[in-house]
Amino acid sequence: MILPGSTLGVLGGGQLGRMFAIAARTMGYRVVTWDPDPHSPAKDFASVHIDAGFEDENGINYFLKHVQAVTTEFENVPTETLRKLSDHMRVIPSAESVGICQDRILEKTFLDNAGIPVPEFMAILDRKDLEKAFQKTGTPALLKRSRWGYDGKGQALVSNMAEALSAFNSWGEVPCILEQKVPFSHEISIILARNQQGEIRSFPIAENWHSHGVLETTAVPAQTSETSGQKAMQLSEIIVTKLAYEGILAIEFFVLDDGRVLVNEMAPRPHNSGHFTLVACTTDQFEQQVRVLCGLPLGGTKLISPVVMGNIMGDLWQGGEPDWSLLLSEENLKLHLYGKTTSRPGRKMGHFSILDNNIKIAREKARTLLLKLASYKVP
Ligand code: AMP
Repeated sequence: MILPGSTLGVLGGGQLGRMFAIAARTMGYRVVTWDPDPHSPAKDFASVHIDAGFEDENGINYFLKHVQAVTTEFENVPTETLRKLSDHMRVIPSAESVGICQDRILEKTFLDNAGIPVPEFMAILDRKDLEKAFQKTGTPALLKRSRWGYDGKGQALVSNMAEALSAFNSWGEVPCILEQKVPFSHEISIILARNQQGEIRSFPIAENWHSHGVLETTAVPAQTSETSGQKAMQLSEIIVTKLAYEGILAIEFFVLDDGRVLVNEMAPRPHNSGHFTLVACTTDQFEQQVRVLCGLPLGGTKLISPVVMGNIMGDLWQGGEPDWSLLLSEENLKLHLYGKTTSRPGRKMGHFSILDNNIKIAREKARTLLLKLASYKVP
């Protein structure tokens, strides 16, 4: 067990690292954040922040000297750094698990081999692969970069060879997957923790809506059938067990009209669709990350109240700083801002959660507030 007073390291300094640092500091740990960006949101809550590239020897040496256990808030950290650190301290998730989740070809192949249903897909290593891939996926399909894609970036909806080639060329012909466009009825996600002893604890299933490939709102409990929910839960447990996973894993699913569930993707860390846990669960996903990292008992994940989470995107800064009093005057709303000093369209700047027994009404309210926020500006 790594006890309070010890120093925890986190690779990545975005909002997920910030909320990890808040949870860890609340529980009496010191926190070292590591991110090349000297203005990382996590830095505000770090005991020490290292602004160096993730392969920097000085960063590694600092961690070796001062840190007792390491986790990550970002899947695109070099697995070699995780491996080097893991020779000397507890590192979760493992380099192997992160390696699978950071590469769509490895991820989809792992899932497929494990018998987990996924959309039809094929790896594209060469332009010649595209024709055969279309036969498998049909049209339209999504061409996705195998690495470095997130929030709908590095993805193109393509209906024919010409469109696919144009996207493939524009990304420098890096490895990709071509994936069937799934006619899903709705999207859900499950965030779960698995510890060193193989004990698994899941948060309640979340239902998610995206806008331009980016999460817009999440509602919990998810309005999905009991069968689909149970199936998604079973698949999640198979996945973490087959990966021998330690840490927090988020899994996104497509639910089809006939109730079948397909895995879309996994993230080896807390997830945007789990921010509701900060206000609506006994233990939140970041505290759970601290607990599993430190070998502490896993926390209870019970839902205390139905909840809707809305993402606050940088687009809302067009025309000036949003007037937060619009949100803060709502009685059952909790606002989280990530302390980012520059906004840009598509950048996640914060989120809010509304506690309400009627999640349909709460989601309508969340969407209305987001629309209004675009024109409510600080005078
Ligand atoms: P991703 O970054 O792969 O999770 O994609 C972001 C969002 O794009 C997903 O949550 C879906 O709403 C949509 N999307 C991604 N892949 C597919 C697919 N194969 N079929 C239909 N929609 C998709």
